[in-house]
Order: sequence, then structure tokens, then C-alpha cells
Amino acid sequence: MDKPFLDKLRKIDPYVPGEQPQAADIIKLNANENPYPPAPCVQEILRRFDAAQLALYPDANGKALKSTLAGRFGVKPAQVFLGNGSDDVLALAFQAFFCSDRPVLYPDITYSFYPVWCNLFRIPYETVPLDGDFRVRVRGYDQPNGGVILPNPNAPTGRGVTLDFLEDLLQHNQDCVVIIDEAYVDFGAQSAVPLLGKYENLLVVQTMSKSRSLAGMRIGYALGSEVLISTLEAVKNSYNSYTMDVLALAAGQASVEDERYFQETCRRVAETRDRSAAALRGLGFTVLPSLTNFLFVTHPKKEAPVIFEYLRQKNIYIRYFRLPRIENYLRITIGTDEQMDRLLDALQAFL
Ligand code: PMP
Repeated sequence: MDKPFLDKLRKIDPYVPGEQPQAADIIKLNANENPYPPAPCVQEILRRFDAAQLALYPDANGKALKSTLAGRFGVKPAQVFLGNGSDDVLALAFQAFFCSDRPVLYPDITYSFYPVWCNLFRIPYETVPLDGDFRVRVRGYDQPNGGVILPNPNAPTGRGVTLDFLEDLLQHNQDCVVIIDEAYVDFGAQSAVPLLGKYENLLVVQTMSKSRSLAGMRIGYALGSEVLISTLEAVKNSYNSYTMDVLALAAGQASVEDERYFQETCRRVAETRDRSAAALRGLGFTVLPSLTNFLFVTHPKKEAPVIFEYLRQKNIYIRYFRLPRIENYLRITIGTDEQMDRLLDALQAFL
């Protein structure tokens, strides 16, 4: 049967997440998860949690977590918005701020959810090509637009931009909302948070999925001016997916309170990343500079899908995108030192 109401949706290329294989002996380096557990105090909170609390609704405003996050970032609680993972926060922000006649701008190549949301919410968009080294260029974001979304660092390339670049971008885009998606910022990039006091149109979106080892809990948040945050609060419902559950609120709060564990985990991941990048270069790979918890690599003599399949047979899962311009690239999430050694051994044997 013809279903015209589905025509628009048939044109959407769905975002395909990395596989989530469940077998025990798998080295999972395909979803940019953190190989280390959440902070010990998070584990303690979960162990001691009284299930009787689940009979009651959570605090729909997430007051305690907002104020803890506000303290950490030096903003007011009214400048913090919470959601179930940053994907949810981003999707709502697209709907709230990007629905105009003018195109939203984002880089080509970038996080592949952006076109999905634009198509779904009927937001016009234009992409701004990266340069030959996969760097984001400031030129191209100075044309008239209905908003800008930029991941810093970018995904899946891993390259970051500086605070000066971000300031330049904001200077050129004062009449629309500029969203900086900082999913990976904690592994070494410069955050746009210090610019929040200066630009009312800036929305910074972060997640606890990567640097805080809480991907399974779904905690994301936005930081912005009170006018942007109150707009997001006004358009969300009370107990929908922008309301975090009781456990997530408690775990998120405990995580933010343990700054030392957080810093140490990020440092370990970055150290393993840099060591792995050097080892991969030693094996003949071209490795893009990365400020994230993943590496974007290509081998001049071997095809990416062949390497991907070989590793898969060895129970090592990495990510291959099958997209133009990056069809010979692979994205490798940084695991523990031991996991990376097993990956490097397997690649050495293959090459
Ligand atoms: N932004 C970027 C650039 C990402 O890579 C991801 C993770 N896939 C997200 C946002 C969303 O992460 P989460 O919903 O787990 O917070």
C-alpha cells in the first residue's frame, strides 16, 4: 500500500550505531566508550541504592545535579539543561533553535546524526567541507545561516579547533544559535565554556558517556545563557526523556563530585591514545592527530574493510563507516593498554 506519510522518512539515512556484541572475549573498540569503570563513588551509590525510591517520580528539574554541574563550570544552575544522553539534548536543541528558512551549517564530515535530525525536523542545511587534512575551516561559516553546529573535537576525525577559532566563529554568527557539541572535549580539546559569559547565543552540549564512563546510564547536558536554557526547559515535557531517572541523577552527581578520578581517567586514556598512535604509525598507518578517545586511521597499502573484517574475526571490533572520502579510514576507540596491545599485535600479524 502507498503510504505518502512515510515518503519523507524513507529518504532519511538512519544513523547506524556500532555493533554491541555481548560475548565475553570481545575487545570492543567501536563505540567510543570508556574502557574504565565509573568513579568508585558512583559504584558505591548504585550498590547502596534503596529500590523503594523508585516508587516516586524523580526530581523533574534535576535541581541537585544542575547545581553541582553549575558549580563545576562556574555558571548558574539556570544555565544548565539535563537530558538522557547528549543525543537527546542535541535533538531538542535542533528542534528548538534551528527551525528557520535559512540553512544550518555543519562540517562535511561530521557526526552523522546531524543530517538525520535536519531531515526529520525539516531543517534546511548546508555542509562546509573540511580542508585536505580533515581540519574544520572557519571560512564557510560566515555565510547567512539559520544556526551552526560544530563538534569540538570533530567526530569521527578526532581533530579539534582552538578557543580563538571558536571565538571567531561566534563573532561571525551572532544572530543565530551556535551549538558546540563537546562529546569528546575532556580528552584534550579546548572547551567553549569560558565563552558562555560573552555570547548569549552559544550552547555547549556535553555528555557523561565518554569521559565519565557512564554511556549505559544516558546522561547529557547543555550549558548556555539563561535565555537559551529557559527556552529548552519551556519546550520539554515534564517526565519525558529530558527528565533523568532517579539512578542517573544520583550517579551523575557522584561522578561530577569526584574530579580526581575523572582527571586521572582522562589522562590515562589520552596517554594510551598517544602511545597507540605512535605504534600504529610504526605499522605504516596514517593517523590523524586526535584530541579524543579514538583514532582515525588509514593504511596506504591495505583496504579499510579488509582490516575491519580481519579484526572482527579475531573478536576485535572497531568502526568502519562506508562513506565517501573516508571509505578507506577506520575509527579505533582507545581501550585499556592491554586491549590496545592485543589490537596492535593482531594488526602486526595481519600486515
Ligand atoms: N555527539 C557526538 C559527536 C557523538 O559522537 C556522540 C556519541 N555517539 C554523541 C554526541 C552522543 O552521545 P550520548 O548520547 O551518549 O551522550
